Amino acid sequence: MAVSELQGDDSAVRVSAPLDAGDILLGRRVRQNHALEHATVTLLTRHMPWLVVSARANQHGFTIFADLDPQVVEEAAQEALTRLQRGEAELAVHPNCGTNLAVGVSLALFGSLFALTAARPRTRILSALASSLVAWKMARPLGQMAQRRLTTFADLGDVRLATVYTRHLFGRRVVETLTTTV
Ligand SMILES: [Zn+2]
Repeated sequence: MAVSELQGDDSAVRVSAPLDAGDILLGRRVRQNHALEHATVTLLTRHMPWLVVSARANQHGFTIFADLDPQVVEEAAQEALTRLQRGEAELAVHPNCGTNLAVGVSLALFGSLFALTAARPRTRILSALASSLVAWKMARPLGQMAQRRLTTFADLGDVRLATVYTRHLFGRRVVETLTTTV
């Protein structure tokens, strides 16, 4: 049997995980690319601790907003992909992800709205302060839980790295990483 037939058989029997809330919210490709973005940024900053980067994932891949050598990014992305595929799922969760901020702001907002329902002004202020404190304390653990369950998807078994290149965006050089699925 030819190798291509073997590969064809293998992909034909692949069973993908059923859709969950995160897929309905963002789409699985975006979540997979978000996971790969986090893992790549983690590896880049491990190699270059002085590096300050921001990044954004979409359904085609992810953009790193930093003037980096695309070869360096490609190597980090390939290593990140391999390690995620080997089961290092914790690489998919990043401590500085925007998900954490969104969860923190939402908690503070709902807490403050709830505090406004208190009858006495003093209770309202104390409740708002308490809810802001709770939001600040809980943002990171809840944000990381939201990353695991909603905004990232660490199973990248069907994902391959397609191409890495630089382009200019608003006068700055950024690195684009495109992925594909098999
Ligand atoms: Zn993120």
